Amino acid sequence: MAAYSIPEIKKTIQRFPKRDLVHLPTPFTRLDNLTKELGGPNIYIKRDDMTGLGFGGNKSRKLEFIIQDVLDKKADAIITWAGLQSNWCLQTAAAARKFGITPILILFNVYDLPAEYDGNLLLDLILSADIKIREIGKGSILHLEDVDEILEQAAMEVKDRGHTPYIAPIGGSAAGGSMGDPLGAISYVNAYVELKEQAENEGLDTDYVLHASGSGGTQAGLTVGAKALSDNTKVLGVSVSEAKSTYTDYVLDITTDTVAALDLELEVENNDIIVFDEYLGEGYGEVNKDVAEAIRLMSMKEGIFLDPVYTGKAMVALIDLVKKGYFKKEDTVVFFHTGGTAALFPNKKKMENFLNRK
Ligand SMILES: *Cc1c(COP(=O)(O)O)cnc(C)c1O
Repeated sequence: MAAYSIPEIKKTIQRFPKRDLVHLPTPFTRLDNLTKELGGPNIYIKRDDMTGLGFGGNKSRKLEFIIQDVLDKKADAIITWAGLQSNWCLQTAAAARKFGITPILILFNVYDLPAEYDGNLLLDLILSADIKIREIGKGSILHLEDVDEILEQAAMEVKDRGHTPYIAPIGGSAAGGSMGDPLGAISYVNAYVELKEQAENEGLDTDYVLHASGSGGTQAGLTVGAKALSDNTKVLGVSVSEAKSTYTDYVLDITTDTVAALDLELEVENNDIIVFDEYLGEGYGEVNKDVAEAIRLMSMKEGIFLDPVYTGKAMVALIDLVKKGYFKKEDTVVFFHTGGTAALFPNKKKMENFLNRK
């Protein structure tokens, strides 16, 4: 018995208005060649890399709700932050421009990539975003000590010029800054419902959904969706930057806030948040040989490109979990492609090093 029906959940989400930025539903198909290659469960893909805004990706779903909030609050500048090659910042800039809002991006140089105009940074430049590059201070990108001051400073500058700033939290996930509800996570409850409808149309029962997890909104939203429809599908989040011990609580908090915002009667517990941190490698954005090879495998088997920071690591996890016998052969596993492919290009040297060695 489902705790809620699909129409009930849809109605609840409709209380949060949104702007159109995304082509929905995103495609959902079986990966025949990869399924055969791995000899494991049935592998499907949900193409949230094909959302249609910018170069596509999970952040554009979130921004449908967030841009609406910016407009409702009569702001005309959006300030946000993340890593130098952030997909979130690029998508925010693209969405903002479309609605006449000025994007101000604070980009932290978190790993050893040159600050050259390539990948998302090039796209930010093309969009004429206001780009401020900062060296990283203490802490991981999700818990930077000095970020609040930097944001306040940027907001003051906007006000001094006679404009109204909106501070959007990293990844559009946890409520914070000017965003009172976890709007990004709410958009992913919607994504889960969309997936469920597509699966049902094919007469398919999903057992697992696997995706790359960074700022928690995607995982929180998908988890709330699965719990609300109570279909026993497990959501597996592959952490790309945080240790499981701290990240699980972080995601659980967003999940709890999402349940509250949607006014659902659901118990979400610690063990509903399934996080893998063993595929992090050297840390956020650090490409390794496994990642490079997983990207190559997917491209050669399916003609689909993954990215080196998020989805490549999630694919390493999927391959490894299949090898370890985590799934049953008759299971259906949905791989959420969350986008990010522009980051392949600034990582070209690393990709070349790992793939060119004979
Ligand atoms: C941001 C991002 C994720 C992670 O989503 P969160 O909601 O931040 O956890 C996954 N994949 C890509 C390509 C992303 O840009």
